Amino acid sequence: MPLIVQKFGGTSLADAEKIHRAARRAIRAKLEGHRVVLVVSAMGHTTDHLISLAQSVTSDPPKRELDVLLTTGEQVSIALVAMAIDAAGHEAISLTAAQLGLFTDSTHTRARIQHISRQRLDQELSAGKIVIVAGFQGIDAGGEITTLGRGASDTTAAALAAVLGADRCEIYTDVDGVYTADPRLVPKARKIDEISYDVMLEMAAAGAGVMHSRAIEFAKKFNVVVHVRSSLTDVKGTRIMAETSNMEAVAVQGVTLREDLAFVSLTAVPNHPGVAARIFAEVARNHILVDDIVQNIYDGGKYANLGFSTNADDAAQARAVCERLAERLGIGGVEIDNDVSKVSAIGVGMRTHSGIAATMFEALSHAEINIENISTSEIVISCIVRRKDGPKALRFLHDAFKLEGPGNAGESR
Ligand code: ADP
Ligand code: ASP
Ligand code: MG
Repeated sequence: MPLIVQKFGGTSLADAEKIHRAARRAIRAKLEGHRVVLVVSAMGHTTDHLISLAQSVTSDPPKRELDVLLTTGEQVSIALVAMAIDAAGHEAISLTAAQLGLFTDSTHTRARIQHISRQRLDQELSAGKIVIVAGFQGIDAGGEITTLGRGASDTTAAALAAVLGADRCEIYTDVDGVYTADPRLVPKARKIDEISYDVMLEMAAAGAGVMHSRAIEFAKKFNVVVHVRSSLTDVKGTRIMAETSNMEAVAVQGVTLREDLAFVSLTAVPNHPGVAARIFAEVARNHILVDDIVQNIYDGGKYANLGFSTNADDAAQARAVCERLAERLGIGGVEIDNDVSKVSAIGVGMRTHSGIAATMFEALSHAEINIENISTSEIVISCIVRRKDGPKALRFLHDAFKLEGPGNAGESR
């Protein structure tokens, strides 16, 4: 019997009607002859509200307790979806990560999945039930509750699809699929029919919040085709899959904006072997994410200015860690800039098309937007800009790379 994993995001479960709608989709898949596993997020903006609630009590909540709090959101959803399926006359069971056996490491608020037990899942599926799993959460070896990072219900779904060898993994959300840019910021954006794991991974990492990047890592590793589609319509959506020869060979496939960044600058860093290693070892030891790194040397190679972008959430901790390092290593100063964003252009064609960087810089110049830092890799070019310039930069890049197109939003399955 084929197995399907369906994931519903927060907006797709925002009220009772939407919960019934999700339940009906699962039942439909069951009636079509599938074994069905649902993964659900917290309803609507519940997770944001829970974070605000924690912050109303203390500005610095212990991460362990934050995880205990945040996982309640998904627990509400699994129970309600199970009730909706039951009310429609079908058998369902809700499972938390602890009940299921979804084990992670112990890094609270951004834990990584280590092992998923199949026993309970197989047992419930064999009994003919629709199994509803709480996304975003896990437990560590000591039984502590963990979460996998914001937006990580996608990762729960992809990991379950991988472990179970699912025939399909469907991500139901509030857009018709993956677009050439966030359609909320670029109304002219076009839906992409098929996208490779590699390009999607980079788009997700660079700010395309429609998919959690670790979900794509799982999907790629276990070759699970992920189908991103609307929970409200039957429009075809986007397939995320291994690269195929007939995929669009356009140079740039999408543009993205990341607004949740901060830029850390270390000035007058003594420039001798081992300094960068010590700095980044300490940063990593404190679980501070490092996005892009820039360094330039001056004063005949005596000193360097060293900067890196990091998660805005990590900025305060990054400052504390870097200030300690500055004292120890004789670094001149530490500055944190919280007012930056990153725009990126992504596409496999970058390797073979010249002039992409030039097009990008020209577009930003036409928009009269100053570029503060540039980083490039084989399939991504990114620029750091002022936060206020981000959305405008994104629109100019979308135009410059001619990403607009007829689209296919009206197509049916
Ligand atoms: P869910 O609650 O279903 O997980 P998310 O809010 O996490 O939904 O993701 C869907 C949102 O992602 C869309 O509403 C859209 O604004 C945003 N988004 C960002 N980049 C893209 C993109 N390239 N294509 C489609 N949606 C995008
Ligand atoms: N509820 C979690 C969040 O808002 C996980 C998710 O939605 O994927 O981040
Ligand atoms: Mg999401």
